[in-house]
Amino acid sequence: MPTEVAPGITRLGNEIVNFYLVEDGDGVTLVDAGLPAFRSQVDEVLAGRRVDAVILTHGHTDHVGVAEGLRRDGAKVWIHAADAAMARDGIEQKTEGNLGGYLRYRATWKLLGMAVRSGGVRRPKIAEVTEFGDGEVLDVPGHPLVVHTPGHSNGHVVFQFADRGVLMAGDALCTWNPLTGRPGPQLMPRAFASSMSEAQASLSRLERIDAGIVLPGHGDPWTDGVATLVARSREASLS
Ligand SMILES: [Zn+2]
Repeated sequence: MPTEVAPGITRLGNEIVNFYLVEDGDGVTLVDAGLPAFRSQVDEVLAGRRVDAVILTHGHTDHVGVAEGLRRDGAKVWIHAADAAMARDGIEQKTEGNLGGYLRYRATWKLLGMAVRSGGVRRPKIAEVTEFGDGEVLDVPGHPLVVHTPGHSNGHVVFQFADRGVLMAGDALCTWNPLTGRPGPQLMPRAFASSMSEAQASLSRLERIDAGIVLPGHGDPWTDGVATLVARSREASLS
C-alpha cells in the first residue's frame, strides 16, 4: 500500500522490498524500482503523470524491476558507474555468501516466493543507463546528492535529499532483514554482499550525512536520525 513517509515522498513496494516516489513541483523521481509486478502501483500513484528519472541505489534484481518499462516511457535511468554493467548487461558481481545457509529462515522462503510471483527471478536488463559518481548532485527532480557506499554491491550509493531531511539508504543498511526476518537496524546479509568489510566501512560515510528520516530498501522508515541508526547497526551482529 503506497504511503506518504516524508513531505512529497511515497513508499511503494510490499512488506519485503521498498522503493520510493519523490515529487518536486511537477517533476517525479523514482528511487529504486522494485520488482516488475509493482508497475501498476507506480501508475496508480502517478495518476497520469510521468516519471522523469529513475535513480538506482544499486543494480540488484529487487531494485530495478520497473526501470526498463519506465525508460521506454521516457524516463532517464541513473546508476553508479560500478553497477552499470550489472543493470544494463546483467553481469552479476561476486557475493561473499549464498542463500544456502539461510534456508532455515521462513523469511528467506517468503522472499524467494515473492521473487517468483513478482517477476524477480530473471533480471530485467535496462537497455540504457546514465552513470554517475560519488559527490554528484543529480539534475533530476529533488536534486539528490550521491554518496558512494560500496559493500552491498560495488556501485552501491545512498541519496541525500537535503532540503527534506531525508536519506535514501538503499541496502547500505536495513531496518528489517529480508533473509532472517530479524527486525531492527543492521547491515544487509552476507549472501547479497560484495564485501561485508566494505559495507562496514561505508557506515562511516553514511554517518557524516545529516538527515532525520532514513528510508531503507528493506524495512520501515527510521525517523530518529542517521547517527542513531548507524550506531544501532554497528551493534547488531552480522547475518
Ligand atoms: Zn535489496
